[in-house]
Amino acid sequence: MGEPKYVVQCRSVKDVVEGLAFARATGEHLVPRGGGHCFAGRSSTDGIVLDLSGLDGISVAADGTATIGAGARLAGVYSALHTVGRTIPAGCGPTVGIAGLTLGGGIGLLGRKYGLTCDHLIGAQVVLADGSVVECDQNREPELFWGLRGAGGGQFGVVTVLRFATLPEPMATYLVARLPGTAAEEVVSAWQTWAPDAPDDLTVKLVVASEPGLPLEVTLIGASLLAEGPTRELLQEFVEPSALDLRRMPYSLLKEAFDDPRGLPAIRLRSEYFSQSMTPGTVTALLGALDGADGRRELNLHAMGGAYNQVAEDATAFAHRNERFLLEHVGAVCDPWVDDSWRIAHPEGSGRVYPNFPDPALDDWAAAYHAGNYQRLKAVKQTYDPDRFFDFNQAV
Ligand SMILES: Cc1cc2nc3c(=O)[nH]c(=O)nc-3n(C[C@H](O)[C@H](O)[C@H](O)COP(=O)(O)OP(=O)(O)OC[C@H]3O[C@@H](n4cnc5c(N)ncnc54)[C@H](O)[C@@H]3O)c2cc1C
Repeated sequence: MGEPKYVVQCRSVKDVVEGLAFARATGEHLVPRGGGHCFAGRSSTDGIVLDLSGLDGISVAADGTATIGAGARLAGVYSALHTVGRTIPAGCGPTVGIAGLTLGGGIGLLGRKYGLTCDHLIGAQVVLADGSVVECDQNREPELFWGLRGAGGGQFGVVTVLRFATLPEPMATYLVARLPGTAAEEVVSAWQTWAPDAPDDLTVKLVVASEPGLPLEVTLIGASLLAEGPTRELLQEFVEPSALDLRRMPYSLLKEAFDDPRGLPAIRLRSEYFSQSMTPGTVTALLGALDGADGRRELNLHAMGGAYNQVAEDATAFAHRNERFLLEHVGAVCDPWVDDSWRIAHPEGSGRVYPNFPDPALDDWAAAYHAGNYQRLKAVKQTYDPDRFFDFNQAV
C-alpha cells in the first residue's frame, strides 16, 4: 500500500460528513483513523485517511456518563476521568485510540473485575456511508449499537462520539515480579491454571521474553484492587516476597507506571484464545522455540475469565466470552519465529482471535473473530453499509 492521497484532519462532525462526501464523489477508498495503532494497518490506505485526532473532547456528566470524542487516546481519557474521580476499564498503551480499542472490545487491567471497554459503552454517534448522522444505543439503532461493541473498527460507519458509563476510580496495587528464567516452564504451567481463576480483583499477565545473548526474562505484571497484604498472599505460590514489587496508588497513576518510555518498536503479533490450559509438552516446545538470534521475542499471556465471561456471547458483537487466556507471540516484523511459535500452540487453542489483534494469516477469519455472531454482523453490514463503502481485507 502506498501513501494516502489525502489526509482529512477532522475537527467536527461536519468535517467527517464532508470527508465522506468527497470520497463518494471521487471514488477514493476511505478509512477512519483514531490512534493509528491497528496491527494490520487498517487505518491507512492509498486513498483518504479520515484523521479523527482533532475530535478528542472529553466531558463527564453529573450521573457519571462520559462523552468522549473518537479521536481521544487512552492517556487523555484516563487523566480527564481522573480529575472527576472516575475511570473506565480500558487498555494500557497511552497513545492507543479509545475508538479502535472500544470497537474491537478493550482488554485491560480492570477487565477481570469490570469487563471489556465495550461493555461500558452506552451510546455512540456514527456517520454512515451515505453521510447521515445517527445516534445509537440500546433503543435507537440497536443492531448498529450491538455491532459496534466488539466486531472491530472500520466496519459500519465513522464513530464520532462514544458515551460510556464510568466507575468511581479505584485505588489499585501495582504489581511486578521478576522470576528466574530457569523457572519459566513451571511458572507458565502454574499461571495457566491459576490466573484465569484468581479473584476478579486481581489481573496478572505473564510475559516470557528472550533477547539474544541474555537469560530468559519471566515477569508477572498486573494490578490488584486489593491492598498489598492480601495481594502478596494471593501471589505467594509464584513469588518469593523479596521478588515482588507492590505499590498502592490511584488506578490512573498505575496505568502511567506501566507506560513504556521507549515508545513503540516495529513488531509483528499473532495471537489466539485458549479455553483450556496448554499441555506440558506444548509449553516445553514454546519455550524451546523462544530462544533465537532475531531480536526480542515475547510470549504474553493475558488472563481472561472473571467479568469478561459473565456476558452472553451474543449480547454484544464480542463473541469470546468463554476463554481462559489469550496468548500473544510478539517478535520483530521479519522474524519467522512468530509464525512458528503460533503454530506450536495453535492445536490447543480455541481457534478464536481477538478482533483488536487482527491477523492477516488466518484461514477462517470470520469464525476466529466473530464465531456465532458472524451472520448477525453480516445483516448489520447489509443494513448500514450495503455498498461496502467501508471495506478492508477481513471486513464483515
Ligand atoms: C502499544 C499498543 C498497546 C495496546 N494495548 C492494548 C490493550 O491494553 N488492550 C487492548 O485491548 N488492546 C490493546 N492494543 C490493541 C488496540 O486495541 C488496537 O490496536 C486498536 O484497534 C487500536 O485502536 P486505534 O484507534 O489506536 O487504532 P486505529 O488504527 O486508528 O484504528 C483501528 C481500527 O478501527 C478503525 N477506526 C478507528 N477509529 C474509528 C472510528 N472513529 N470509527 C470507526 N472506525 C474507526 C480503523 O479504521 C481501524 O480499522 C494495543 C496496541 C498497541 C499498538
